[in-house]
Amino acid sequence: MALADEARRVAAEFEYSAEDVNKGVREFLREMDEGLVKDGTSMSQIPTYVTAVPNGTEKGLYMAVDLGGTNFRVCSVQLHGNTTFSIKTSKVPIPRELMTAETAKELFAFLAKQIESFLKQHHEDHYFGHLERVETGGGTVREEDIFDLGFTFSFPVHQIGINRGTLIRWTKGFNIADAIGKDVCKLLQDEIDELKLPVRVAALVNDTVGTLMARSYTSPGKTGTLLGAIFGTGTNGAYVEKLDRITKLKKAAEKGEIGEYDQSTGEMIVNTEWGSFDNPLSILPNTPYDESLDKESVNPGIQMFEKRVSGMFLGEIVRRALLALLEKDGGKVPLFRDENSNMNDMHTTTNIHDNSNLFKQWGLDTSFLSTAAGDASQGLKITRQALNRELGISAASIEDAEAVKLISAAVGKRAARLAAVAIAAIVIRSGRLEIATVGDGTSEEDVIDVGVDGSLVEFYPGFEDLMREALREIDGIKEQEKRVRIGIAKDGSGVGASLIALVAAKQIRRMSVAA
Ligand code: ADP
Ligand code: MG
Repeated sequence: MALADEARRVAAEFEYSAEDVNKGVREFLREMDEGLVKDGTSMSQIPTYVTAVPNGTEKGLYMAVDLGGTNFRVCSVQLHGNTTFSIKTSKVPIPRELMTAETAKELFAFLAKQIESFLKQHHEDHYFGHLERVETGGGTVREEDIFDLGFTFSFPVHQIGINRGTLIRWTKGFNIADAIGKDVCKLLQDEIDELKLPVRVAALVNDTVGTLMARSYTSPGKTGTLLGAIFGTGTNGAYVEKLDRITKLKKAAEKGEIGEYDQSTGEMIVNTEWGSFDNPLSILPNTPYDESLDKESVNPGIQMFEKRVSGMFLGEIVRRALLALLEKDGGKVPLFRDENSNMNDMHTTTNIHDNSNLFKQWGLDTSFLSTAAGDASQGLKITRQALNRELGISAASIEDAEAVKLISAAVGKRAARLAAVAIAAIVIRSGRLEIATVGDGTSEEDVIDVGVDGSLVEFYPGFEDLMREALREIDGIKEQEKRVRIGIAKDGSGVGASLIALVAAKQIRRMSVAA
């Protein structure tokens, strides 16, 4: 069989039809609903205790810190109240020895120290003014001096309030046994208090929720954003849900498992953890490449949606598909072989380096898909260069590059169509489509705003168009697709976390008035 036919056959394995998309949406809706009712479901549907999204008119100076994997980021954000903001940032690497310290105190004292130096450097007047007042005023802190801070903590926590959450386990090379089960906000607040800093840990922040908040503040018009979605290394989404639909929250409150929470807005942001949508594979597509990727991963059977949608995995799917083609029929498929290198403008035979990343797990980065799928260069020169650079395949032919492009595009397109399943289900469930349009469906009041972040959606060519194409195929959306506005939301852990601190501070005040 000719290479082109073989490549088309493989690409066809990644087709995800209109019917599949619709089935996907129905299952997504079912799992969304299930996750709101009870714990231990496929999609976790975690209540975040954030009960409002900003509309762009919010004002004030807030702080945010982000403890990710390798760095600790501190920033202050001035919200101007007109959808714009200014931000000051500092970033320090976490010392290795603190990642495995004896006690949590050692790590959190270091974090508080960084906040102190940030304040001294960027908010000198405020900081020393406060210090002086505390010393002369007998230790009392003025409310107006306090910075409310949003704490993005990218490890698994069990959140029990807007600024309360206990550490479930460490990941990413951290290991401090002493911290497990403790409230990470309190650990940080205690060290901040020890240094007498004018800072209150107002909110524990999930980065996906931060994305939603950042988008809602910066998006045009006053319409609140419905959904924040990440398509980067991983994929996840957070959306605005009606409080009375989150029945598991009410049950937990009745059992006294969680503290009191703000109910005044009737809404709460829910963190879906949709990466684990349909782990049992009742509707998700499953090619031999998906299957072997999963089997040889560190967490087989888990994060099955993410394994078909996000940057960490798409390159690996393509690598497995190419390798399978190369090995098919005992090596008879003319991929990366000389038979069709007669067009070879390098006048040399195609060669796969012995040490090629084609033979290594995770050997192909997802950015390669963007390069190949978007290649419009003469003779697909760019893809052929990338094959050489990233996979050690020298002098690949045009036919090789065409096959690689076709397969890369098929994997990218399937990912975008799956992404559309998640977006569609949330748009449908919000009920916002049922509100009649004011004009032709594109005026500000009609818009359903969605914020997205991550290299895949940002850089994969036509990712949004591919998602939109799928949205138009979905019953319950169809031509209403044009009401969905999708925009990039940057810096969820900076401006997003600051906005959560703002909302949280309002909530805390509201609840103390009510109490
Ligand atoms: P993070 O998710 O860690 O915040 P990013 O949003 O930058 O970071 O996503 C990183 C992921 O995106 C990686 O898996 C990487 O392979 C993938 N990626 C990086 N560049 C591109 C690109 N140009 N096109 C598609 N995917 C990309
Ligand atoms: Mg990111």
